[in-house]
Amino acid sequence: MDYGIRGKKAIVCAASQGLGRGCAIALAREGVDLTINARTAPTLEATAEAIRRETGVSVVAVAADITTAAGRAAVLAACPEPDILVNNAGGPPIGDFRDWNEDAWIAAVNNNMITPIMLMRATIDGMIARRFGRIVNITSRSVKAPLAHLGLSNGARAGLTGFVAGLARQVAKHNVVINNLLPGPFATDRQIDGLRKLSAKAGQDYQTFASARMAEIPAGRFGTPDEFGRACAFLCSADAGFIVGQNLLIDGGAVNTTL
Ligand code: NAP
Repeated sequence: MDYGIRGKKAIVCAASQGLGRGCAIALAREGVDLTINARTAPTLEATAEAIRRETGVSVVAVAADITTAAGRAAVLAACPEPDILVNNAGGPPIGDFRDWNEDAWIAAVNNNMITPIMLMRATIDGMIARRFGRIVNITSRSVKAPLAHLGLSNGARAGLTGFVAGLARQVAKHNVVINNLLPGPFATDRQIDGLRKLSAKAGQDYQTFASARMAEIPAGRFGTPDEFGRACAFLCSADAGFIVGQNLLIDGGAVNTTL
């Protein structure tokens, strides 16, 4: 299937590993030229080089903290007119609601709500002028089904989701569509790190704890960044212009709902 986006330009934030990397590779395989970002230059450059070698697309790597105004400015300077924007950043820490003071809340809201909003604000008018735009926000299943130990995520990402619901309907008539992808459990460094902390807290070894978590998922396993990336690439395809303001769970069936 041809996604009709060959030669388009994409910014993929927080993309040196994990879900962001999966999105970057999937878009590159569709012939999209990339600007990718993460904070750690060597791992980011290694990812950029791997994608260039495999796909032959242009990959510009911008080492910067996307949650800062300076970081966003550096990324936008490298790709001022993106056709595609994949918003992503590190998730907030797990914990108990008593752990999170005002600073922790401000950081979570900045990283997982204000940062993607600022990037959309900076790029949407150009997309409207060019009559093509695809924006995917990586959020979390915690938007649909709260996870108590991820209260910062439940809260901050719900704020982004509410904003996107309105904005998506405002810009869709210009062939600019915004959707959110809601990952459940994926076997990324972040997920494994979180599981290690929870297994330690439960006094279990990691393997037993992780196997029990997999058994709770209808698919019987964790997802892979590659399959997450392919869903993202589809939402960025030319044919996805009528999919507007949706929140697509990609979680192996973990969230147990009818709709
Ligand atoms: P990951 O494997 O830890 O990868 C995170 C990526 O983001 C890395 O490339 C990291 O590189 C980069 N990054 C982190 N903070 C950044 C910043 N401030 N500026 C620029 N780049 C940054 O994480 P992941 O599992 O792919 O998760 C991605 C997002 O999905 C997170 O928000 C997470 O909460 C959410 N999520 C994940 C899952 C899951 O199962 N994996 C489930 C639900 C939600 P540097 O550290 O070098 O910057």
